[in-house]
Amino acid sequence: MIGRTNSRYVRVAVIAPVHGLFDYRLDDDTSAMPGCRVRVPFGRRRLIAIVVECPATIDFADERLRTVEAVLDAQPLLAAADIDFLRWVAGYYHHPVGEVIATALPLRLRKHDDASLPGESGWRLTEAGAARAPGPPGRAPRQADVLRWLHARAGHQATGSELRAALPGCAPTVRALQRHGWVVAVELPPRQDAQVHADFPQLNAEQAAALAALQSQSGFAVTLLDGVTGSGKTEVYLRAAAAVVARGRSVLLLVPEISLTPQLHARCRERLGDTVRVLHSGMSDGEREQVWHRMRLGLSRVLLGTRSAVFAPLPDLGLIVVDEEHDPSYKQTEGFRYSARDMAVVRGQRADCAVLLGTATPSLESLRHALDGRYRHLHLRRRAGGARRPRVALVDVRDQPLQCGVGDTLLARVGDVLGRGEQVMLFLNRRGFAPVLSCFSCGWLSDCPRCDARQTLHRASHLLWCHHCGAQRRVPKVCPECGAAELHPLGQGTEQLEGFLATRFADVPLIRVDRDATARRGSLERQLERLHASDAALLVGTQMLAKGHHFPRVTLVGVLDADGGLFSADFRAAERMAQLLVQVAGRAGRGERPGTVLIQTRYPDHPLLHTLARDGYDAFARQALAERAAASMPPYSHQALLRADATRLEDALAFVEAAATVAHAQRVAGVDLWGPVPAPMTRRAGRHRVHLLLQAGQREPLHRQLRALVKDLGALPQARRVRWSVDVDPIDLY
Ligand code: ADP
Ligand code: ZN
Ligand code: ZN
Repeated sequence: MIGRTNSRYVRVAVIAPVHGLFDYRLDDDTSAMPGCRVRVPFGRRRLIAIVVECPATIDFADERLRTVEAVLDAQPLLAAADIDFLRWVAGYYHHPVGEVIATALPLRLRKHDDASLPGESGWRLTEAGAARAPGPPGRAPRQADVLRWLHARAGHQATGSELRAALPGCAPTVRALQRHGWVVAVELPPRQDAQVHADFPQLNAEQAAALAALQSQSGFAVTLLDGVTGSGKTEVYLRAAAAVVARGRSVLLLVPEISLTPQLHARCRERLGDTVRVLHSGMSDGEREQVWHRMRLGLSRVLLGTRSAVFAPLPDLGLIVVDEEHDPSYKQTEGFRYSARDMAVVRGQRADCAVLLGTATPSLESLRHALDGRYRHLHLRRRAGGARRPRVALVDVRDQPLQCGVGDTLLARVGDVLGRGEQVMLFLNRRGFAPVLSCFSCGWLSDCPRCDARQTLHRASHLLWCHHCGAQRRVPKVCPECGAAELHPLGQGTEQLEGFLATRFADVPLIRVDRDATARRGSLERQLERLHASDAALLVGTQMLAKGHHFPRVTLVGVLDADGGLFSADFRAAERMAQLLVQVAGRAGRGERPGTVLIQTRYPDHPLLHTLARDGYDAFARQALAERAAASMPPYSHQALLRADATRLEDALAFVEAAATVAHAQRVAGVDLWGPVPAPMTRRAGRHRVHLLLQAGQREPLHRQLRALVKDLGALPQARRVRWSVDVDPIDLY
């Protein structure tokens, strides 16, 4: 517990990319507690820092100690348990602790700003309004509704958001009432959200068993809720969350992407009420800060958020849910590289609460824990609405002519299904028109000037566009090398596929779902309404199809190219591909008619693909796990990647070479070192990238090695010409 201390010293984490903690003296007339922000002199700068300890004595000569310039918070912003957790996280990822703590703070509070929770704007009845409220509606029934609703509330008042939620579209009416002098705008103090007692649907037997199992244990336990898409996992989360909220405790519900949150948010609010708040990067800083304070103070109890919400302050945490736990977007892949899924488990352990990992396609990491008995493994094998699972078949396209990547077999089936007035979804995980543009006369290819990669042709926008660094240029009219008049696109992207299908099936509505086609806000929703309103329809898209949305009237799913995942240099590619295929397939066919999934491949005998198609994801995953075990790959070993990049390849190589020498000299037994090796895509955005891979059977020696290494790296003379970072548990080696 934090108490005011008499200590004259504080130990702080500065919000800057520096490792370690620093001690300062407090002036006699000031005091600070762990969790408060302070402003301190640091070198020649002034920085904001967070107090993490108040040591009674320090072993530093007193006169060399600098003094805290200002204490910014009278009360701690973060609880002691939160600070302990964040310090642990910084140690695990070997990342500067101040930057880790900053991740847990709203943007404004990382600076010198006031940290009090502002009130909420709202409306209150005036005396005249209150007198009028019980009267007959007269000629303005909308106004009467608002008056009556406010009159029934305690204090005759409500926040703007409560009013809008209860009486949607009432804003003009409220303004009219204000003109009449019947309501006034007021600032209301922040209040605890009320609990609601909503009706839940009757759980089916599998759901009920899962919920009972989940609730049979108290304290920390991790459960892998392994349930096919549409089996009612979300319903189980909501039930479990409601029980936790009813006990006055907090719930953290993590989701991989913003695009998933609107529907889920609505569903959560329906069941759990206003106490559900969202936190994601699409919100304004002010909105985020408001939510952060409400959670911190326990005024709201359910936080629905993306990745960084795992660090939000949540008192009395009673449950953490990680939805779609396999999703790679839980891993932050630049700067402070953490896995929100993994940190959710650690946080649950520290808070001694239940952690629920839900997915239709478990990550091999989580599956291994489940098979080893460290996680409880619960299954939901049937779709909740009773819809049947789709049939999956491989289509050998080795001897088939392909038209725009679509073979005869698939094309014929598409025609049949559309002819029956049903819908088709075609999945091609490549946006743009073609992955490369080429000259047949001289062999020129549309290389990215800044990466070891090609620029993708986007024909509609007349651009060559690198999907790795974003570099763009106009499509050249003639070959930039030899001046030949004609350039040829090679391969297909969704833009091209859309064009082909539009000619081939001209009388059927066609919708493309990818980043380019849905860039404008709301355009996807409008497109999907068109889909839900029609019978026969074609849907074409990238992995965006795998997320969030449901297409109940789709009865045929075609996967154009499954081979990319089979022979990739990335050992996780097959797992990713399988997850993606199963997720895409799972979005379809929730109606009465059963669906079919056709997967085009040139390797129909590939054991993993074969197992996936014949026996499903579960069998696939066990086979893939056996392969990982045989090769001592994660999750049967642990990795960390030292990444360095520089404008010159020699500089990056020299640094990693020096780092490898240091690491070898430190001789930590049980850690294998691989490198320096150039990254698979060596040049990216104009920088050359070189890696040192560290791998170990046990975590302990790996972390011992990393601690020693990170301590020495900054002092290497070669470090001045590179940017470097450590990626613990990397999810790819690119
Ligand atoms: P998942 O999260 O596993 O994809 P959902 O919880 O979204 O599944 O459930 C899929 C659909 O089935 C939703 O429309 C949901 O409202 C419905 N559903 C889930 N459980 C039940 C139930 N016990 N009774 C009736 N409908 C249910
Ligand atoms: Zn040419
Ligand atoms: Zn590029």
